[in-house]
Amino acid sequence: MATYIPELAKQNPGLLGVAVCDLQGRRWEAGDWRAPFTLQSISKVATFICALRDNAFDTLPRKISVAPTADGFNSIVNLETKNEQRPLNPMINSGAIAAITMVRGTTIEDKFQRILSMIGDMAGNDTLVVNEAVYRSEKRTGDRNRSLAYFMKSTGIIDGDVEELLDAYFRLCSVAVTCGDVACMGAVLAGDGRSPFSGQRLFDSKIARMVKAVMTTCGMYDASGEFAVDVGMPGKSGVGGGIMAVSPGRLGVAVLGPALDAKGNSLAGWKLLERLSAELDLSIF
Ligand code: GLU
Repeated sequence: MATYIPELAKQNPGLLGVAVCDLQGRRWEAGDWRAPFTLQSISKVATFICALRDNAFDTLPRKISVAPTADGFNSIVNLETKNEQRPLNPMINSGAIAAITMVRGTTIEDKFQRILSMIGDMAGNDTLVVNEAVYRSEKRTGDRNRSLAYFMKSTGIIDGDVEELLDAYFRLCSVAVTCGDVACMGAVLAGDGRSPFSGQRLFDSKIARMVKAVMTTCGMYDASGEFAVDVGMPGKSGVGGGIMAVSPGRLGVAVLGPALDAKGNSLAGWKLLERLSAELDLSIF
């Protein structure tokens, strides 16, 4: 498990849960689907959506690229060497930290609340809260993220109070969810931005298309290519052991399995998605 965040080391590695949500909001669940876990990097999808929604469509690529990476999710190296110092993509830590600053709001707290509401609206759950113990654990040990953020401040990618920004980032990573919540979030992307519960359009289909493309190429960190081959769905993993996957026009799927592979993706979750994808013919390729 992600022992670099000490609180996550306390998770039960044997949990295995799955939930599926279709475009009518019907849900199927199995195993430990009620077990709470923290969103971690899955929150980056909501941050990216908000940053796209709150800016002219072509603004974001000027600050954040959409290039896949062969380095780890918290890598600092490309900030200095590639893409005129832009973060490589919004699905890794540097890109997500930069994307928070692009969300509408006069204070960081406003931006945080806006992203949290997007997560809640997508999940169809207005009672989501931050897991305080995980948040404090991330904040205490998040020096790699601190270095990414201060580096980006030095190059002008971000400005303002870095600690406050990181605080919002850590809290977004620490939002507690279940597989049921995350499957519903996936269903909104499957429905091109429309909530299966409220029928409300949460974001434009143009945004949904871009987000699914970036999830496909970058969502599983530096294992996105293998995931495309094995599973074939736009996906986003988090080091809490969750993976959100999208079957466009059909389903949102969420799996939980806290034991991770070396790149930070859920081992059992990956296998489960691979089998589900084969059985239900969910690959987009
Ligand atoms: N909170 C984690 C970190 O910043 C998120 C990483 C992840 O899920 O990829 O390191």
